[in-house]
Amino acid sequence: MFQKVHLYLTTMCAGITAAIMIVMSLCYLYISEKGLYENQFTSFQNDINTIVTSLEQQSVISMEWLSKMEARGNYSFYVLDNGIPFLYNRLGGLSEMSGTKTLLENCLKTYHERVEHEIISTDGEVNFGLYNTCYHAEFPFNPNDGKHEFYASVIELNRNDSSLQMVALYSLDFLKEQIQTQRVRFLLIDVTAVLILTLFSFFFTGRLLQPIIENRRSQTAFIAAASHELRTPLSVILSAADCCRSADAARQKGFLDTIQQEGTMMSSLINDMLTLSNSDNHNFPIRPKEVELDTLLMNTCEAFEPLAREKKLTLSITLPGDSIPVCTVDDERISQVLSILLHNAISYTPAGGRIDLSLLYNKNHNKNRFCFTVADTGIGIPEEDKKKIFDRFYRAEKSRSTKGHFGLGLSIALEIVKLHHGTITVSDRPGGGSIFTVTLPGT
Ligand code: ADP
Repeated sequence: MFQKVHLYLTTMCAGITAAIMIVMSLCYLYISEKGLYENQFTSFQNDINTIVTSLEQQSVISMEWLSKMEARGNYSFYVLDNGIPFLYNRLGGLSEMSGTKTLLENCLKTYHERVEHEIISTDGEVNFGLYNTCYHAEFPFNPNDGKHEFYASVIELNRNDSSLQMVALYSLDFLKEQIQTQRVRFLLIDVTAVLILTLFSFFFTGRLLQPIIENRRSQTAFIAAASHELRTPLSVILSAADCCRSADAARQKGFLDTIQQEGTMMSSLINDMLTLSNSDNHNFPIRPKEVELDTLLMNTCEAFEPLAREKKLTLSITLPGDSIPVCTVDDERISQVLSILLHNAISYTPAGGRIDLSLLYNKNHNKNRFCFTVADTGIGIPEEDKKKIFDRFYRAEKSRSTKGHFGLGLSIALEIVKLHHGTITVSDRPGGGSIFTVTLPGT
C-alpha cells in the first residue's frame, strides 16, 4: 500500500513541478522568440530607412553600391527601373532557390494586396531629395513554400517621368535556425530537469513517508502484542469459568479467585495501553505544580516497603542533606514513574537483595537538575536489551516468566519523563544489578 502511495506522491510531485516548469519555459520561449522577431524586424526597418535615404540622394544606382548593401545586411535586392528589371537582379542570397521570378512576383503581389487592404501603410514623402515621391513598406513575407520566410520591403521612388521600384528581401532562415537551437536546448534542459525532479521527488517522498511507515509498523506490532498479552488471561478466565460450572462449591472459590486475578491483570494491561494511546494522541495531560521531590520519593518508597519486605528485600532511601528547592512537576505522574521503577526493581531482584533509592540536586550556573536513581542488586539487564527495554511490550528473555509484567511500564515512564523535558537512562550497578536514573529540569 505504501509503495503505491510512494509512486503516486512521486508522480504528483514531479508531475506538478514539471508541468509548472514546462509552462514557464514555453512562456519564456514565446516571449523570447517574439522579441527576437520584433528586434529583427525593427533592425530591418532601420536598415531599409538608411537604404531609402541613400537611394534618394543618388541619381544613378550603381551595382557596386547594391552589392555592398547586400553584403552588409545579408539582403537580396531586385530593382525595376521604369518597370524594366535592373541589371542587378540576381537576388544573391536566393540564388539557390528555384523560381526567383515567381518569388519576386509573389512579394510584389503581397505588397500591393496589403497596401490596398491598408494592412500595411507606406511611408510617403513628397519632393524629397532627387525624387518627387517616395514610398516604402516593410512586411513579413511567406512565399508559401513551407521552408523559407522573409522580411520584405518594397521601395517606390518616382521622379517626373521615371520610376524606380526596389524589392529587398531579408531571409529569416538564420533567425529560425537560432530559434530552433534555442528550442532544442530548452527541451534538453527540461528533460534533464524532469528526470532530476523525478529522482528527487522519489527520494524526498520516500523520506516523508518513512515516519508514517514506521508509525504504522509500530501500531501493527502494538496491536499484535496487545492481542497476544490479552489472549493469555482471557483463555485462563474462559477455562476457569468452564471448570467452575461443573466444580463443587469448595473448588469453585479457587476458580473464581483465578478469574478475578486474571481480570485484574487484564484491566491493568488495558489501563497501560490506554495511557500510551493517550500519549500518542497528545491526550496525556500533565498538571505541573510545585512539588517537594524528597517528600514525594519518601511517600512512594513507603508505599512499596510492604512489598519489598514480603520479598525479603532491603529498601533504602538517601536524600540530600541540605534543603532542596521545589520542583515543578505533575506529582502523580512522577510518582507513577517511581512506582514503575520500584515495582520492576522488586520484581527483578531475588530475595535477600537490596534496592537503593536516592535523590540529588545538581546546581549548575545555567542548568539546575533534579536527579533520582533506583538501584537494585537484581538480575541486571544485558547490554543488547538496554536499548530495547523502553520499547512497548519489550521484555528481556530472563524476565518473561514474571507474571503481571507486560513490557509497558518503562515505555509509560519514558513518555512521562519526556513530557517533563527530562531523561531516563539505565546502567549496570557495579557488582550486579541495574541503576535507573531519571533527571528532571529544575527552575
Ligand atoms: P515489564 O512490565 O515487563 O517490567 P517494563 O517496560 O517495565 O515492562 O520493563 C521492560 C523490561 O525491562 C522488563 O521486561 C525487564 O526485562 C527489563 N527490566 C526492567 N527493569 C528491570 C530491572 N530493574 N532489572 C532487570 N530487568 C529490568
